[in-house]
Amino acid sequence: MEKITVLDKTFVKYIPVQEVNAATERVAQQINEDYKNDKPILLVNLNGAMIFAAELLQKLTMPCRISCIKFVSYSGMQSTHTVTPLIGLNEDLTGQRVIIVEDIVDTGETYEHLCEVLQAAKVKDVRMATMALKTDVYNRSIPVHYVGLPIPNKFVVGHGLDYDGWGRNLPDIYQVCE
Ligand code: 5GP
Repeated sequence: MEKITVLDKTFVKYIPVQEVNAATERVAQQINEDYKNDKPILLVNLNGAMIFAAELLQKLTMPCRISCIKFVSYSGMQSTHTVTPLIGLNEDLTGQRVIIVEDIVDTGETYEHLCEVLQAAKVKDVRMATMALKTDVYNRSIPVHYVGLPIPNKFVVGHGLDYDGWGRNLPDIYQVCE
């Protein structure tokens, strides 16, 4: 088993990049089918979603745009249970079909908060496309429409996901060793 160290933690290789890429392809195919007669805007939640979003974007076949935001809730390996908008909405999304692009959905706190912000911004509708979903932890009633990788409740890094800012550049996804 391939192990790496990021700061003070050891991680073991969990999902190889080929599987991540196949998951992105599946998500893109679903979005291409669902939005074939639309012009959605992808709302990319920085920093973690930047790699998944860049890969997803290139596989989309309809006319589409992106806009970036930065709403954070994690510090280290813990949720702070407060969603802080470091970069907020910076364009008028009235009447738009919005697809939020996330690296990972955990409890859904960030997602729920973003839905409220987007509702107030009078968008037409909102869907979520996430590279990974912690299926056992997600506890909100709003559907997570496009899920690349359903994963268990263990902290992961790589492919955009960080531990205190480090590890985003790892192509594979790694799981923390207890
Ligand atoms: P939620 O609001 O759904 O509880 O948490 C979502 C946010 O928490 C993600 O955007 C991500 O920044 C962070 N997060 C949750 N789980 C993990 C994880 O296992 N690894 C990393 N790197 N970030 C996580």
